[in-house]
Amino acid sequence: MVTYDFSGQTAIVTGGTRGIGGAISAALLAAGAHVTATFAGNTERAQAFAASHADTERLDLRQFDVGDYDQVEAFYTEFDAAHESLEILVNNAGIRRDGVVGLMPEADWQAVLQTNLSGTYNMSKMGIMKMMQNRYGRIISITSPSGKMGFEGQANYAASKAGQVAFTKTLSKEVAKRRITVNCVSPGFIDTDFIGELPPEQLKAYKSSVPMKRFGTPDEVAQVVLFLASEAAAYVTGSTLEVTGGL
Ligand code: NDP
Repeated sequence: MVTYDFSGQTAIVTGGTRGIGGAISAALLAAGAHVTATFAGNTERAQAFAASHADTERLDLRQFDVGDYDQVEAFYTEFDAAHESLEILVNNAGIRRDGVVGLMPEADWQAVLQTNLSGTYNMSKMGIMKMMQNRYGRIISITSPSGKMGFEGQANYAASKAGQVAFTKTLSKEVAKRRITVNCVSPGFIDTDFIGELPPEQLKAYKSSVPMKRFGTPDEVAQVVLFLASEAAAYVTGSTLEVTGGL
């Protein structure tokens, strides 16, 4: 296992208290970073995550909706007062509300775009200002193969995830001269609550579609995020790294 040292660095991980985000927060903590892990409403899981890291003072938890501009602004006002710098922002918070387009309620379209895509804009817009002041930063957004391939019943999700890639490519060019890199990680099927709720026959079909014939683990995604967050990835920007078992 590659080891990284993020001592003295400050990170924000949205949706950072469970699933893929939980693994990213845990890996950054283990590598010495100060981590603010955010969540939307699952207080029980957030408290359990905090309890499992009770031995460190480098973890803060904050509850807000990444899709709500005003709530993100309020979060950053508090964050900026407490932290001189922000080195790493991981836009991981995401939801899905699957349904075929003809039957998709407008509310499901809006909710997915608001959380996944507007959430990435809200968090990045306010985070990038702090990174520009310090002329250093890493922004990593968790996209999905759905955005590239399109999976039936996921038009809202696919559009939001493709949007994250386009957003990333654009922002990467805007800040490239300032030692700030902006990338995406695209996990395939990863064993979290996110896919755990799918019907067993769909899970079976998904698994057989993966060349490695297994789902990935949250930690396998976290390791790639840490690489992009590290100095080792200084010349990688505007890219999407796939962690899909060959999907
Ligand atoms: P989970 O459902 O396990 O966790 C999602 C996290 O996002 C939770 O912490 C949740 O908070 C948070 N969240 C959801 N909505 C909001 C919101 N509006 N504001 C703030 N936080 C929010 O998902 P995964 O860990 O599986 O997925 C993480 C990311 O990876 C997502 O962006 C997803 O699209 C992407 N992804 C996942 C794949 C998979 O197979 N699992 C495959 C490809 C991509 P709370 O705990 O409070 O509910």
